[in-house]
Amino acid sequence: MKELIVEMEKYAMEHNVPIIKKDAIAFIMKFIKANNIVNILEIGGAIGYSAILMASSNPEVKVTTIEKEENNYLECLKNVKKCGFEQKVNVVFQDALELNLSEESKYDLIFIDAAKGQNMKFFEKYKYFLAPKGAIITDNIKFHGYVGKSDKIESKNLRQLVKKIEAYIEFLNNNEEYTTKFYDVGDGLSISVRKDEVA
Ligand code: MG
Repeated sequence: MKELIVEMEKYAMEHNVPIIKKDAIAFIMKFIKANNIVNILEIGGAIGYSAILMASSNPEVKVTTIEKEENNYLECLKNVKKCGFEQKVNVVFQDALELNLSEESKYDLIFIDAAKGQNMKFFEKYKYFLAPKGAIITDNIKFHGYVGKSDKIESKNLRQLVKKIEAYIEFLNNNEEYTTKFYDVGDGLSISVRKDEVA
């Protein structure tokens, strides 16, 4: 397992695949254990790094991860097989905005870590699949420190992307259904829970 993790980190670096920061995945694994999370939906699986680590948090954990890029998807499948997690990690090859999950699917944790400009769309689409007391975690809330400084970014594409993340933060802060806390770990994480379920 440890070897595979190191191998994945190396692959990610060599192939320019963004993977979650170590302290952020450690934080999420702790959250999974503390909240007895069993069913996880991950939007943006990449090569399976976070899916495999989340699945390893607890013996009962099951992860469904959605990945739309074929190379990543194939690499993810390979990694899931290597660690013998075929029963724990279900890899779906599709664009999460086009996927139709069965209405009965419910997840204790939905982890959004895909196209950063689409966070709001993912949130609005997948909130209906959150189990009671479930949480939505979003990665890259700081986006390499650019968030909050979009006006100073010269590249138009990057500026627009960062503006979308800033708008997502505002959407979370002003959300009437969900309460969101922000955590300064990794590249910034947010955790959203339904307001009527906050103790
Ligand atoms: Mg990420």
